Amino acid sequence: MSLQERDQKHLWHPLTQHKLHPDHLAITHAKGALLFDENGNTYIDGIASWYTCMYGHCNDYIIKKTTEQLSKLDQVVFSGFTHKPAVEMSEKLMEILPKNQQKIFFSDNGSTTVDVAVKMALQFHFNQGKKMNRIIALEDAFHGDTFGAMSVSGLSVYNGPFEDFLLTIDRVDVPTHDNFEKVKEHFSQIIATGEVAAFIFEPLVQGAAAMKMYPAELLNALIQIAQQNNVLCIADEVMTGFGKTGKYFASDYLQNKPDILCLSKSLTGGVVPMGLTTCTQQVYDAFYDTEISKGFFHGHTYSANPLGCAAISAGIDLLTSDEMQQNSIRIQQRHNDFNKKIQTHPKVKSTRQTGVIFALDLNIEMDRYGNLRDQLFEFFMNRGVCLRPLGNTVYILPPFVITNDELDKIYETIELALENF
Ligand SMILES: *Cc1c(COP(=O)(O)O)cnc(C)c1O
Repeated sequence: MSLQERDQKHLWHPLTQHKLHPDHLAITHAKGALLFDENGNTYIDGIASWYTCMYGHCNDYIIKKTTEQLSKLDQVVFSGFTHKPAVEMSEKLMEILPKNQQKIFFSDNGSTTVDVAVKMALQFHFNQGKKMNRIIALEDAFHGDTFGAMSVSGLSVYNGPFEDFLLTIDRVDVPTHDNFEKVKEHFSQIIATGEVAAFIFEPLVQGAAAMKMYPAELLNALIQIAQQNNVLCIADEVMTGFGKTGKYFASDYLQNKPDILCLSKSLTGGVVPMGLTTCTQQVYDAFYDTEISKGFFHGHTYSANPLGCAAISAGIDLLTSDEMQQNSIRIQQRHNDFNKKIQTHPKVKSTRQTGVIFALDLNIEMDRYGNLRDQLFEFFMNRGVCLRPLGNTVYILPPFVITNDELDKIYETIELALENF
């Protein structure tokens, strides 16, 4: 029996209606930007396996660093204990984070980094004797699938069964040059209640909302209003972090730095699940007290797993290397050239690009093609290109190590799709 057949007996896949989608492609190995399946087919990973493996699959340097760590220390409780991989990682990360960040809190994935951030923000005010129980989030946001993260997410199509149990959130439109005065007014009105603990956002690019992009200066203006009113600003950089927007962090495009950052996905280069919530000294100081209950009583068993920390350090070495930075510029230029070529195509409604993220909206009637998204996905996979369209948006977020030939194959396959749909 194939892996694909054996899979169906016991495995339950994420975000899947199994009755409609019973088959899952079995990947046996991967290297660089390539995935290999059990039938001998090869696919170019055009989305870096959900934005994780940005330095390429099975990166030799990350393998070396994590293997070395694995034979020294595998795991130890992080309450009351510490270790070199965590300390070294913290020093390296501070070198590249926005300068106002000082403290690092561990969890295991993107959703938990958001839950931690939300709890941190609520307790920050609570510890100072203030009851701030409102949180502002953006429309169409995606922050994860645990209860706190689900609450602040605005893409609620899947949240039906849980809606009654979620935190109450004040939601504002994503700012654009057209709506900004209205958004600003709405935002200021909510802040004026004096009950807002935090403002959470995906800076510059909303990944799950089909790579919706919005201007840094408008977000910057909202952050300014929030911070003038003692509202903590949380940048969910789970997707945008570690070079995807062309700078180390999307927050690097902002003058007003967020108080709290959420990091995961390519944090470990895709080898170990891990999440970090970082914050300013000011946030940390609100918890620093002789009173035990003012501490932050949140903890995950695998906090600061040494293997994960070693992978983060290796990832930062790679991210900051000339090689990776040049790769990023190369990809951005190629995206740019591709954009010039296709943006006027009659089947292209619009295109957008931030850093190595490129997205295009198709000008195709969804109804006419039934499930366009599934058909596009199949079209790409049949030609050896792994892209996962969101609705009628096709986007590319390749690993930095992708070769020019591999990029060209992705572009050509998208052009072919434009001719065939
Ligand atoms: C993926 C994602 C999350 C959730 O991360 P998980 O590791 O899947 O829990 C949260 N926020 C953003 C912006 C994401 O892209």
